[in-house]
Amino acid sequence: MAMSQLRRLGKLWLGDDPAQRLRLRQTSLAMALLAFSAVLLHHAIGLTGGSRALAWLWTAYAVGGMAAVYAAIRSGWSLRFRDPSLTSLQIGFALSAAALAYAQVGPLRGGVFPVVTLILMFGMFQLRARSAYGLALFALVVFGAVMATMARLQPAVYPPAFEVIHFLVLACMLPAVAMLTARLSRIRHRLAQQREELARALAQLQAIATRDELTGLPNRRQMQALMDQELLRSLRHHHDFCIAVVDLDHFKRINDQHGHAAGDAVLRAFAQAGQAALRATDVLARWGGEEFLVLLPDTAMPPAVAGMERLRQQIAALRVDAGEGGAIAITVSIGLTGHNRGDTLTQTLERADRLLYDAKAAGRNRVRTDPPS
Ligand code: GH3
Ligand code: MG
Ligand code: MG
Repeated sequence: MAMSQLRRLGKLWLGDDPAQRLRLRQTSLAMALLAFSAVLLHHAIGLTGGSRALAWLWTAYAVGGMAAVYAAIRSGWSLRFRDPSLTSLQIGFALSAAALAYAQVGPLRGGVFPVVTLILMFGMFQLRARSAYGLALFALVVFGAVMATMARLQPAVYPPAFEVIHFLVLACMLPAVAMLTARLSRIRHRLAQQREELARALAQLQAIATRDELTGLPNRRQMQALMDQELLRSLRHHHDFCIAVVDLDHFKRINDQHGHAAGDAVLRAFAQAGQAALRATDVLARWGGEEFLVLLPDTAMPPAVAGMERLRQQIAALRVDAGEGGAIAITVSIGLTGHNRGDTLTQTLERADRLLYDAKAAGRNRVRTDPPS
């Protein structure tokens, strides 16, 4: 009960969006640290005899500033910026608050230095190198101004010679922290680059694994997966699909007469013309050598026959440039069959193969289909 209420409260405070939650969690941590600093400041004032009114003014400044940052992020207003976490703004604000606290706690001011380092460390996971150096410089300027002012106003508590030392400590510390942040920023950048390269390589590998290199058509493995998919779909939606085996006629002769390179060019030309002859939803794949497969998803026999006949005719009309002014004419033989529900894909492919054999035996350059049942 208490747990679920706590969760509801957390949801109210941080919202639903994971990226926003992360930002608001970070801001909440900063708020908690500032609130703790306010308590410490009041306690310190009690010890050193500083001004209560100023301590309350500081508290209002710190709480008001962080509340404004929280509202800017929680409302989504900050999403318009490159860094919706407003990291630089939060760090700059916290640094200014630290400098104002430094002016109030007198002899206890040495405790502010580690806090300044901590504040800058908040930027290590987000800031770019430029912002890190910019904020270090900002801190140096603000603290320099506060030290100079206090050395003039209360030289007994803030002796100028001490303040010079304090300033030099900051002047060493801040650029070092900025340098570390810059280094982390570079590492982050390199990681992002490597991630991108990996994604590109993966896409490339995927293309290699699924495409036939010569023709650019889906390869045997990819076609097998596509046919498996279509089989499942046809079972679920009760539709038909057809498969055709397409084999180039007397391809050995083309290789023998024009050379292997010309043979390759013919295969490429066939792939291009074949795809153009088919419907966008049909898949033409290289099954091996000069043998191709056509998958006609969600297609009944009559339109499939018309499609394969169109393919045969367009290939027969194709002329492939063989160099030296020659043009190669090719024909294909096609075995086309519809998948029978309950059959395996292997059975369907074997039937298509037998039909292809019939087409070859009958004189090539023709489509053979199942006899009507
Ligand atoms: P058929 O009409 O009976 O199909 O006769 P065919 O000559 O086409 O049949 P066969 O299977 O005897 O010959 C196929 C030839 O295809 C043999 C092989 O050298 C050639 N071939 C297979 N793959 C490639 C390839 O990637 N490039 C080239 N240029 N030739 C190939
Ligand atoms: Mg052949
Ligand atoms: Mg063959």
